[in-house]
Amino acid sequence: MDESRRRHYLQALGVDLWQTRPPVSARPPEPATVAADGGARSPEPVAASPVAGADAPTPVEDFDWDDLAAAVAACQRCGLHQGRQRTVFGCGRHDADWMIVGEAPGAEEDRQGEPFVGAAGKLLDAMLRAVGLARDQVFIANTLKCRPPGNRDPRADELAACRPYLERQIALVRPRLLLLVGRVAAQAVLGSDEPIGRLRGRVHQLPGYGFPVVATYHPAYLLRSPEQKRRAWQDLLLARSLTGDDGHGGPL
Ligand code: SF4
Repeated sequence: MDESRRRHYLQALGVDLWQTRPPVSARPPEPATVAADGGARSPEPVAASPVAGADAPTPVEDFDWDDLAAAVAACQRCGLHQGRQRTVFGCGRHDADWMIVGEAPGAEEDRQGEPFVGAAGKLLDAMLRAVGLARDQVFIANTLKCRPPGNRDPRADELAACRPYLERQIALVRPRLLLLVGRVAAQAVLGSDEPIGRLRGRVHQLPGYGFPVVATYHPAYLLRSPEQKRRAWQDLLLARSLTGDDGHGGPL
């Protein structure tokens, strides 16, 4: 990327380019878009802070796929950029019917730059196949694009800082269904502190978005607790019934 384009993305994301301003890590994150009632996010994606001057940056909400990928690759909006090997942008069809949102990259994802690899990724693939979908037919992203150290839970400030990227991905994909995988993703996107056991098994709506949202267990959890696969299968059947897909698979 040439220097002027890099500077454009960094400016669009509120990253400092002048010595006299504090470093990004010292600045507060973008405000969360979870509504005060705890039920949902604002329908409007969070915009990057504009930089004064005639050459105003493009806000995140106006980014195309290339802009967004470049912005994530250069991002320093939270401290997680310091420990990452690679950002994990997401993968799959840009016009997918199903969009899958997981938690955050683990060690292998950090190495490969792709979400849901390793054993949990294989199980996610099997879950999708069970409802007649291949990985390359959906779009998969995480709430965070960089790995938290030691695979700890994402912090609220990190989720808030990274949220505009996920919101823009959702807006670009415009899926027919959002499938939230695991507690962290479900709580973050739905703006809830309910346990995943209560968030799964029903249909959620996000104000301003026309598609249904379903939460289910994370495949890493299912690997540890295979007795819960039956419930995950029920969630997938629920999701499939909402999109009208026949699917050609079977139970996990
Ligand atoms: S986790 Fe998100 S906000 Fe934080 S540095 Fe990575 S891309 Fe930027």
